[in-house]
Amino acid sequence: MPEVTLFTKIINREIPADIVYEDDLVCAFRDINPQAPTHILIVPRQPIPTVDDVTEADEPALGRLFTAAARIARKEGISENGYRLIINCRAHGGQEVYHLHMHLLGGRKLGPMLAR
Ligand code: 5GP
Repeated sequence: MPEVTLFTKIINREIPADIVYEDDLVCAFRDINPQAPTHILIVPRQPIPTVDDVTEADEPALGRLFTAAARIARKEGISENGYRLIINCRAHGGQEVYHLHMHLLGGRKLGPMLAR
């Protein structure tokens, strides 16, 4: 059996989180350590450890990450000014939770993509 991830526990309401959106394929909740006024994690219900584990069967859920992100951004009022979507992969990408997820960040000018 694959290990139950932290995010699966949030999706199943075993750990509390501020859930802002969910549907049949994805769930979205506010990051516990926000890096911007809006910082939301959008997570496929079915855990995929990393981008490197993605298969064609995951395409519907991965596509939904984007439509959910756009929908949530509009609801958060950050669409017009824009926002950033980030997916980290493994150690060099800075991934901490091995349940693939998209960060939605906005609400202020975020500056350059990488620290210089
Ligand atoms: P990663 O570095 O894997 O791309 O991002 C993991 C994110 O999960 C981090 O931004 C971190 O703040 C967030 N996070 C870690 N534990 C929890 C938690 O228990 N609840 C919530 N809502 N976010 C968490």
